[in-house]
Amino acid sequence: MNDDHPIKIIDSFEGRSVDSYYWDGDTITCKIAEEPLVKIDNETHNYNLHFVIGFTNNGIDKHSIEIIIDSHPEFKHLVPNQIYSSTSLNNTFSPEDTSIDRHELGYKFKITVPSKSTIYISNTMWNPLTRINTYFNNLVNNSNIESLNYGTSVRNNPLMAYKLFQIRDTNKPLILITSGFHPAEGDSIATESIAESLASNSLFCADQYDFLIIPVVNPDGFQAGLNGCNANGINFFWDFQNHNLEGCPEAYYLWKLLKQFPPNIYIDFHSYSIQGVNKIFGPYVKPTILYTGLQTKKSASKLASSLQTIPGSKSQSMFAPSTLSYKITKEFNTITFAKYHLHQDMGQHGMRNMAVLVLQKILESIKPVELQNQILYPYGLLKKTIIAKSMQACFVKRYYGLTAIKKLISGKTE
Ligand SMILES: [Zn+2]
Repeated sequence: MNDDHPIKIIDSFEGRSVDSYYWDGDTITCKIAEEPLVKIDNETHNYNLHFVIGFTNNGIDKHSIEIIIDSHPEFKHLVPNQIYSSTSLNNTFSPEDTSIDRHELGYKFKITVPSKSTIYISNTMWNPLTRINTYFNNLVNNSNIESLNYGTSVRNNPLMAYKLFQIRDTNKPLILITSGFHPAEGDSIATESIAESLASNSLFCADQYDFLIIPVVNPDGFQAGLNGCNANGINFFWDFQNHNLEGCPEAYYLWKLLKQFPPNIYIDFHSYSIQGVNKIFGPYVKPTILYTGLQTKKSASKLASSLQTIPGSKSQSMFAPSTLSYKITKEFNTITFAKYHLHQDMGQHGMRNMAVLVLQKILESIKPVELQNQILYPYGLLKKTIIAKSMQACFVKRYYGLTAIKKLISGKTE
């Protein structure tokens, strides 16, 4: 591109996510950045879907450009139905008025950059890290929510939790809510709206529980504009390396925090982005055999059924022993809805309301007393019998075997 062209791409800002790019007149072709695929638990996960780019217009006239997104080979068929933008990194991105068309490389769309201005563009409802931190700092300053720094990330960013108790009252069940494992997904919108509802005491029976909220589990990923990994290329949602202090301090310190505050219920929000209408929002549930004790099995089923009454949602099962979702149940007997998948096509308000509704359903469908003898020894009083332990181990082994066979039959060679 000519150096005198008024539109320039911004080469460095928090969250920037694009690989190479080239100009041809008023058209810029941007290649989606790539990070390592996760190969774990007989599955391969590819998160190379999203971009965050920025442009400046130094000219005195507004200027339109065409952006071609060169998608990852696996995702050439996916065309988002919305592009999001913001003129500042202090806002969550909002829908941009432009139409998106298929292109041989992926898809294309036009944007107009007003004179003497900056615009940031993404295919997700991007929520910048600095903005999320400011949001929670404001909540801490204006409510009874307290911040808790539980460690530091690979790049020395503080790992921040927010708690709604001063001293943990173990007579009350603890609900842990996380988001921001996969930075590009915009799911921190969910933890923001829940924290806000809890701060304003607007939720039924919430005073009978303690809450711990972690909006950004993976701050380095937000800073570096990564789709799913930490700064060392570890996608620790799928591969929760809780004993790897060096490589994955985010998982290590979160695990340490959970040993201090073992939760009764765990909800982890994620969000579909450009995958389209085939992906339906809803909870991931795990087989009840993995819970210990009749009461906890009952509570887990009850909560799962209650969440399934949310119109339009669909629950899924996930077999992923390397995730926090599995490890937390094995270690503490925590009931998990991890993930709870939202969809950015709901819009920001839709995602905010749905997240609060999910928590409300949980609070409405169970009584704290039902979670009284749930947490496993040595963190709680419940002892796992040898029979329960071996049945759970057998279940996991059998499932590993089945998924390995399935993979062989389907001829996948990842
Ligand atoms: Zn995710």
